[in-house]
Amino acid sequence: MTWPSLISCLPQVRGKYVENAPLADVTWLRVGGPAQVLYLPADEADLARFLAETPEEIPVTILGAGSNTLVRDGGVPGVTVRLTAPFGRVTAEDGARVRAGAAALDKKVAQTAAKAGIGGLEFFVGVPGLIGGALRMNAGCYDRETKDVLIEAAALDRLGRRIVVKADELGYAYRHSEAPDDWIFVEALFQGAPDVPEAVTARMDVITARREATQPIREKTSGSTFRNPDPPGTPDQRKAWKLIDAAGWRGKRIGGARFSEMHANFLINDGTATAADLEAVVEGARADILAATGIDLEWEVKRIGVETKT
Ligand SMILES: Cc1cc2nc3c(=O)[nH]c(=O)nc-3n(C[C@H](O)[C@H](O)[C@H](O)COP(=O)(O)OP(=O)(O)OC[C@H]3O[C@@H](n4cnc5c(N)ncnc54)[C@H](O)[C@@H]3O)c2cc1C
Repeated sequence: MTWPSLISCLPQVRGKYVENAPLADVTWLRVGGPAQVLYLPADEADLARFLAETPEEIPVTILGAGSNTLVRDGGVPGVTVRLTAPFGRVTAEDGARVRAGAAALDKKVAQTAAKAGIGGLEFFVGVPGLIGGALRMNAGCYDRETKDVLIEAAALDRLGRRIVVKADELGYAYRHSEAPDDWIFVEALFQGAPDVPEAVTARMDVITARREATQPIREKTSGSTFRNPDPPGTPDQRKAWKLIDAAGWRGKRIGGARFSEMHANFLINDGTATAADLEAVVEGARADILAATGIDLEWEVKRIGVETKT
């Protein structure tokens, strides 16, 4: 799909605008249409000015590493923002704290903490996104989540104003935050605990090995498709993968899309899927599970953009 020119309505920035920018290349599922305009801000001041001066009726979408996002085939109208290198800094601070820009890889936060002798943040090595996505999704694994280690986060609102909030103001729940949809996180401050670097690194290695053994992490996937119906720690927790499996959807194909044989809650593009194929698999499973069990599973993966009718 091609879009009419939007750039003429946008403010002058020091960063870069790209029209009709392919997004499939920058998401893990590798599907979907282009961004009408992709904006790569030069730094936080540039992003703040862009937000302040861009007419409010123009939709603005923030994309991180695209490891939890399905871009629909019709592309994303308005402006899609991807944060750039100046947002990717990670530094260890006194008091076993780590400050990270929202474009830092979660893994880099874990590694920086380990090197500085800070424990407690090693779970981030198991999440393949950026810190902005972790703040939005309350990302976590193996019994720890972003909310457990977050002191405060900074975001820009749709008018470009910088807001700093404490973790308990973000309405965190399992893979969910109540942060306003239009906030763009720019920075986070995390609390760890003093530890021995080698011990932290060893725990990170265990997490990495466990993930490699149980998740199809080298495929075109988006991680867990559905939120589990019960949060971690619930006795007899109901798990989405078991429901998908029981409904016969593990490995069942529509076009190039299927749920992974290795982990039934991981959606896979075999390289030929469209976003519509992927959505059809998920909605097919959801409908069968609802009919069989009465459980209406919720998407954990975020979907953006316009559907195309086939
Ligand atoms: C192989 C694999 C394994 C995974 N394992 C796990 C796991 O163990 N635990 C887990 O929690 N997740 C897991 N995920 C899902 C995913 O990695 C996390 O949800 C991650 O936090 C998403 O980060 P991202 O940068 O890729 O976000 P994206 O997919 O780019 O975006 C996700 C959401 O966050 C929003 N967002 C992104 N950046 C910002 C920002 N700066 N400010 C505001 N909103 C923003 C987007 O608008 C979107 O709504 C896995 C994914 C894959 C592919």
